[in-house]
Amino acid sequence: MKDVPLPEVGLCSACSHRLEQTSAKGQQFWRCKRADTDPAFRRYPPLPVTDCGGFEKGAATSPA
Ligand code: SF4
Repeated sequence: MKDVPLPEVGLCSACSHRLEQTSAKGQQFWRCKRADTDPAFRRYPPLPVTDCGGFEKGAATSPA
């Protein structure tokens, strides 16, 4: 769990609703799981996220 947001990612890096994904080429993506049920959120928000009403600090779940 990352307690302090990564500057290049912002809030998503420390949010319980994030899902970190790594492509076959090693590129890292940050997916917002809130987007699965709430259209107000973007599945892949532009980074860094500096302000988000859905942010909740906490551990991320395991990648799907
Ligand atoms: S709720 Fe906000 S801070 Fe959390 S993962 Fe989604 S976009 Fe990022």
